[in-house]
Amino acid sequence: MPFWNRNLDLIILTHPHLDHLNGLVEVLQRYEVKQILAPDLKSASPAYQEWLNLIQNKNIAYLPALAGQQIVLGGGAGINILDSASTPMSDRQSDIENSGIVARLSLNKISFLFTADISQEAEAKLINRRADLASTVLKIAHHGALTSTSPDFLAVVKPQIAAISAGQDNSFGHPTREVLARLKDTIIYRTDTSGTIEFTTDGQQLWVKTEK
Ligand SMILES: [Zn+2]
Repeated sequence: MPFWNRNLDLIILTHPHLDHLNGLVEVLQRYEVKQILAPDLKSASPAYQEWLNLIQNKNIAYLPALAGQQIVLGGGAGINILDSASTPMSDRQSDIENSGIVARLSLNKISFLFTADISQEAEAKLINRRADLASTVLKIAHHGALTSTSPDFLAVVKPQIAAISAGQDNSFGHPTREVLARLKDTIIYRTDTSGTIEFTTDGQQLWVKTEK
């Protein structure tokens, strides 16, 4: 986006954990956001309260995410919500993560699968349900954690490109060596080494630009 453009049509909060929420609170402060898609998950954090306050004060349209939802973006592009559990099993960290929004963005021959922080149980659920998972680009789940991106899931998604969001020299060891090994036949882009990764597509070709 050019720096002078302060408008966003849609932002998606996959789940209300701070590493996904904090940046979006700042987005709400700085941008005019038309619509928000978020799962029915609550959080007791001050950042989540700030998020709710901003949505209310700025009167932003709030759409609860549901599996099966389709969002038409125009120009032939669309987003399919493949998963978003409305009732997580418990407040446990992993149950919240497995309830996050999984979305597939597609335009003609090019598609992107966004897997939030789900782990292999949620991946298995998607495979069993025969969700439309095959995608050109896979945003690797949970920053490259060992418990996600199972070989079975990769065999169904068959990504040509993997994008991994992870902090530089993070203390979790993300992305893990094991996940990187499972992606040996895939082109990998990582935010910890390349900074912001920008994908552009016309539905036929895909262009990738990295910050560094
Ligand atoms: Zn995360």
